[in-house]
Amino acid sequence: MSANALLPGATIGVLGGGQLGRMLAFEAKRMGYRVGVLDPTPNCVAAQVADFHVQAPLDDLEAAKRLAERSDVVTFETELVPADLLAHLENEVPVRPGAKVLRTIQDRLMQKEFLRRAGFPQAPFAPVHDPRECDDAVGEVGFPAVLKGRRGGYDGKSQARVPQPDALGEAWRTIGQRPAVLERFVQFRMEISVVLARGAQGEMKVYPVAENVHRRHILHTTRVPARVSDRVRREAERLACGIAEALGHVGVIAVEMFVVDDGTVLINEIAPRTHNSGHYTFGACVTSQFEQHVRAICGLPLGDPSLLSPVVMVNLLGDLWLQRTPPWEVVLSRPNARLHLYGKAPPRPGRKMGHVLVLDDDVDRAHQEAESILRELEQG
Ligand code: AMP
Repeated sequence: MSANALLPGATIGVLGGGQLGRMLAFEAKRMGYRVGVLDPTPNCVAAQVADFHVQAPLDDLEAAKRLAERSDVVTFETELVPADLLAHLENEVPVRPGAKVLRTIQDRLMQKEFLRRAGFPQAPFAPVHDPRECDDAVGEVGFPAVLKGRRGGYDGKSQARVPQPDALGEAWRTIGQRPAVLERFVQFRMEISVVLARGAQGEMKVYPVAENVHRRHILHTTRVPARVSDRVRREAERLACGIAEALGHVGVIAVEMFVVDDGTVLINEIAPRTHNSGHYTFGACVTSQFEQHVRAICGLPLGDPSLLSPVVMVNLLGDLWLQRTPPWEVVLSRPNARLHLYGKAPPRPGRKMGHVLVLDDDVDRAHQEAESILRELEQG
């Protein structure tokens, strides 16, 4: 244990008050820490669990300083926090991960340029400022492609498919005519992610590789163990660890990747925080990603990331609530299913409201059961 480790009783300040902050707060509080949250929403879902809530926008520096004054360490649960604000806070309190990491990741173009400089494999890409002046970019990338806004995009927001060059102008209007990155569409065989934690001394603990399925660009299921060869698994772990190292990251980080037919692994994107595809760890691993993040940012030894049971996670989106409250007995009557609801209101189509984990020695059976739970919830 390092001499300046922050022990239980210390206060963790969290920028952002969504479900990731909420689950971080659950775990931190279980371990005896105090938690403060900055978020503009009254009674936001993390504040429902935290000790105190500074209710203000994520770019309100004075409010963030008030949070920092009452905290021993500050972290974030969303990339929507301005990196400059983090840099200011770094003068007052330890901020983990730091402003430099967030600055590199939160702009899609900077993230991709960082990956290219550091030699990590990814799909061809090029910046697009204005589609009328980007012939070079179009030529380099190839089609079909995807146009993605540089900032503020998550769950496929501000993304548009570009089947051929003459569709670029329309795609640019779809995403709101803003600075963007054009990226080759990857015909992947599978999507996977690696969630890991890196401590302040550079030590790392890697969670088992997760196999992810997205629907409408939103994570639908995560299956662990992933159906990948040892070679792909080792390569995915090597890339994720290399990225965390090259960034000098401290805390949990998730790297989403595509596996293509010949087994090549390409980086899709990096999230410098706990991640939806790591929710399986909170119930199916010795140490959840949220406890692990607390350990990393407080300078504690990292916990054991081992899997206790094969598991499938399925996300519950707001669409399930359109007719009536979902019949929770469908989940609660199954002893191997764990229900997580985030306490969000109102439900909206596409809004992440919760998730279910199904634990089973037979991961195929877990997968079938997770899908059948979802179907039954949909049918009401
Ligand atoms: P993102 O927000 O960039 O992670 O995109 C969300 C999802 O859209 C990904 O998980 C993929 O399913 C899909 N996607 C994004 N970029 C690409 C791409 N270049 N090729 C194929 N699918 C993509």
